[in-house]
Amino acid sequence: MEKYTVAICGMGISGAFIARACKDYATYAGVEIDITVIADTKGSIPSAAFWLRKVPDSVANGFYAQNMTISSWGSREEYIRKQWGEQIEGYSSSFPDEVKVEKGFFAVNPIDVLLAGIKLSWLSVKVTQNILADTARNTDLVFVTFPTADSIEERRKFLLMYPVVSNPIVNQFAQNELIYVGVPGRMVRITKLRNYFAVEYMHDHKVNMDNISDNNVVSYVQDMHPLTPEITFNELPWDNDFPVGRFAQFKRSMLSHEAYDRAWEILKLIA
Ligand SMILES: Cc1cc2nc3c(=O)[nH]c(=O)nc-3n(C[C@H](O)[C@H](O)[C@H](O)COP(=O)(O)OP(=O)(O)OC[C@H]3O[C@@H](n4cnc5c(N)ncnc54)[C@H](O)[C@@H]3O)c2cc1C
Repeated sequence: MEKYTVAICGMGISGAFIARACKDYATYAGVEIDITVIADTKGSIPSAAFWLRKVPDSVANGFYAQNMTISSWGSREEYIRKQWGEQIEGYSSSFPDEVKVEKGFFAVNPIDVLLAGIKLSWLSVKVTQNILADTARNTDLVFVTFPTADSIEERRKFLLMYPVVSNPIVNQFAQNELIYVGVPGRMVRITKLRNYFAVEYMHDHKVNMDNISDNNVVSYVQDMHPLTPEITFNELPWDNDFPVGRFAQFKRSMLSHEAYDRAWEILKLIA
């Protein structure tokens, strides 16, 4: 049986989808794929409030399939103004004009579900440019799930952080809801997902910690302007080194599960 080596740099949700794609692809193509993970930690932000639009059949029974109601208050224009301070030519946002119900998949720890049954070698280090170069030399394929220092440098003006206040709630059976807030105010999106409640605020919102009760968690999460230039393949220094994931590719519209399909396409290049 042909044997290939793959490295996955970073183990957030994209890393986990890539590992699952490697495992499923090896079965499909009748090859062996040895996977090494090189990551400083395991996890993505937000760790709990994850709603996946699609999961691979091979692990579907590890997820709860549930519906989510997606709706909006106010107008698309006001929503975009709150997010970006102005309308952006060619950008319409995912703001829903009417209420819709979407099916999705949820797990308390989706990364562990995606990795179930996969044999991985782990190297727990922060990946540097030198480590990337060595890995690219010694491995058939390298997936990089975070932005490299050079790619950040070139896009710095497009990057920003915004605050999310979340808390666990006890009523797990109420409807899952995502509301886009297109009326004046500081809130941008409100999510109730199974046992989590989260409010995403405007980028420049200062969270008043005096108003935050004990079980609330304030996190600052990365965002990028809709016009951020995406990574192109020839931008990377090594031929066998591929960025996969929303931040690695600077692709704001990318949903987590798309990392699986992209990894699958890339795996076709070697086997
Ligand atoms: C409030 C909110 C709600 C969201 N809800 C959803 C949702 O419901 N469904 C959905 O699909 N998406 C959702 N998203 C988007 C989703 O969170 C991101 O798309 C996802 O986290 C991106 O995952 P990633 O693995 O590509 O990157 P990351 O989560 O950034 O993972 C990269 C990993 O690499 C590690 N790393 C970074 N640099 C290095 C280095 N130099 N060396 C080693 N390791 C490194 C990091 O520690 C991290 O573990 C949401 C986002 C927000 C902010």
